[in-house]
Amino acid sequence: MQKLKTLLNMNDTLLSPGKRTGFYNAHIVERIDLSSRHLLLRVAFDKGKLLDFIPGQFINLGIQVKKSEPEATFLSSLPGQPQDILRRAYSIASSIREMNYYEFYLNVVPHGMLTPTLFRLDPGDAVWMEPQIRGRFTLGSVAPTDHVVAVATGTGVAPFVSMLRSYNEPLPWKSFTLVYGARKLVELGYNDELGLLEKNRASFNYLRCLSRESLTSSQFSHGWVQDFFRENAFHESTGIALSPDNTHVFLCGNADMIREVRELLVPFGFEKRPDDEESRIHSEIYF
Ligand SMILES: Cc1cc2nc3c(=O)[nH]c(=O)nc-3n(C[C@H](O)[C@H](O)[C@H](O)COP(=O)(O)OP(=O)(O)OC[C@H]3O[C@@H](n4cnc5c(N)ncnc54)[C@H](O)[C@@H]3O)c2cc1C
Repeated sequence: MQKLKTLLNMNDTLLSPGKRTGFYNAHIVERIDLSSRHLLLRVAFDKGKLLDFIPGQFINLGIQVKKSEPEATFLSSLPGQPQDILRRAYSIASSIREMNYYEFYLNVVPHGMLTPTLFRLDPGDAVWMEPQIRGRFTLGSVAPTDHVVAVATGTGVAPFVSMLRSYNEPLPWKSFTLVYGARKLVELGYNDELGLLEKNRASFNYLRCLSRESLTSSQFSHGWVQDFFRENAFHESTGIALSPDNTHVFLCGNADMIREVRELLVPFGFEKRPDDEESRIHSEIYF
């Protein structure tokens, strides 16, 4: 693995990232830097319309790597696609009504294979975007009488932003609560937009927490998203009694958070089971 990383960090392994070549099929429409490590990237196909998607789904972005590298083949696992792409999944954060681009919320992984290159791209630069929408992390199984509890850390908020942007008030569920955590305020992407939504939507609750910054504002808790699921904290914050009978929980972000929240939900009657059609807990693990 280390050898693979070293190879991919060598410039000559990447084939003209950002430059227009026959290989690339999409381009950067806009980039909005939220911090030196956080970015909103808006991407469109060079030809043709955007593909329809369901809020919560994702798409793969990629760059070309040399076919001669044996590792390039190793990196490509999707059938029927070119064998020389370094690709990664990114949740769509934009509304289903946005026709000009897909928006992605990215954080750079400094020694990561793809993100340092994505962070160097400017508007007009080329990128590969798989012409295929993927993922089952959607609200399809939620009944109008159910509460939605969405839990995100960092860029894991992206699918929930898409859901909230796509569905208008009155929301087609009893309520939608977003529990969103990051280390610092600067990493709480979309916080202003979500704060406004909370003011304007009766059935939307927004609980936010920061683990490495203490703010005087009562809007922010100090701690982790997990803390909202200890004892009666969630009920005290929202007035909603957590129960698998009328609640679907959606978890998105890093694997540790997802595992811990799943465990904390067991005393409320939620089952530890793999995600399937019957599940009341749904998860999208980023890393
Ligand atoms: C379905 C799905 C949707 C995703 N959506 C998004 C999204 O909307 N925004 C987004 O930023 N990422 C998202 N990811 C993660 C993304 O696909 C990449 O894993 C991430 O961008 C790192 O890629 P990389 O090649 O730079 O790092 P890699 O070389 O793949 O990773 C290097 C190491 O960094 C760790 N790592 C991976 N991602 C992160 C991270 N975000 N923060 C800290 N450490 C990390 C990994 O554990 C790994 O060991 C999603 C993943 C999945 C599976």
